[in-house]
Amino acid sequence: MLHIDIRRNPAPKAKPEDETKLGFGKYYTDHMFIMDYEEGTGWHDARIVPFENFSMTPAALVYHYGMCIFEGMKAYRRPDGAVQLFRPDENASRMKRSAERMCMPPFPEEYFLEAVQTLVALDADWVPSEPGTTLYIRPTLICNHDDLSMHALDRFMFFIILSPVGSYYTGGLQPVRIKVEEEASRCVRGGTGFAKCGGNYAGSFQATQQAAREGYSQVLWLDGATKQYVEEVGSNNIMFKIGGKIVTPALGDTVLPGITRKSSIEMLKGWGYEVEERLLPVAELMEHIEAENVEEVFGVGTAAIITPVGTLGFGGKDYEFNGGKIGETTQRLYDELVGLQFGQRPDPYGWTVRIGE
Ligand SMILES: *Cc1c(COP(=O)(O)O)cnc(C)c1O
Repeated sequence: MLHIDIRRNPAPKAKPEDETKLGFGKYYTDHMFIMDYEEGTGWHDARIVPFENFSMTPAALVYHYGMCIFEGMKAYRRPDGAVQLFRPDENASRMKRSAERMCMPPFPEEYFLEAVQTLVALDADWVPSEPGTTLYIRPTLICNHDDLSMHALDRFMFFIILSPVGSYYTGGLQPVRIKVEEEASRCVRGGTGFAKCGGNYAGSFQATQQAAREGYSQVLWLDGATKQYVEEVGSNNIMFKIGGKIVTPALGDTVLPGITRKSSIEMLKGWGYEVEERLLPVAELMEHIEAENVEEVFGVGTAAIITPVGTLGFGGKDYEFNGGKIGETTQRLYDELVGLQFGQRPDPYGWTVRIGE
């Protein structure tokens, strides 16, 4: 058991009044969780304190060398008013793998679950209840050591902040336009693509901004080495329904192992779909598009759950699928996943975890 020292916020904030206008990452709750690490001492001083600014040396390595990893997960309000998490053990173990890649001390998985449970329970009033709204949970691990030489990495801080967020789809699921990125790369083989680290995001803004200027909402990333294989879409994993089968890029060190991806594959297989996890050449994809074999395209990730893709821009030309409408498998997956996450449907998988359990 982790001993968590709790200092309650003496001046709790007013909650956002209109839960239909929460947006993403605009509001933060009254408390945050923090725990420190020092070489020799290990993890210590677990505490929940009022949400406030940090005081940190400007020489902290997080500011210079991108020593930062994070997780993204949500707490969902059930119809009976209780609050629940979705596969939090998966976030705990992924964060451990990200830490190992970045030479950071892994945050113990049992601490992770306890910290999330305790913090969300304390700020449970902040979990919104408008349809589709959630409490976004952002566990983060940074290096706050001030040795710019990087000879030793001795001091780290783990923290969790919470943000009530709006529904991505206030008017129902909406298909988006994405652009195949033929120049920039998100990551490379042997790099940090599979780790949820800040640097992967920093390096992808330029291409994303350019795509936005061209009228696309996300980029479809190809592999960094050859630019021949499909990898991810924005910060989501990608799936295609081609001739009735589901095809998704296999995990390797360049694809982020998404929990929504994993859950979708398990669900789809349970419904009898054949799911191929493999290398998907963009040339093969374009052939299938030309032959009108591509029935559905969708992104999968915690933030939007399922993002239907209606249009793919490639080589300056736009290709539409399914008449720009949402496919039946996309819709079913969205309905079932969201229903399960919000406790509106039974959970035969054992994926949901109630707060306070
Ligand atoms: C977080 C993330 C995903 C989605 O992972 P989930 O666990 O499903 O939220 C996909 N790709 C990238 C690059 C990510 O950072």
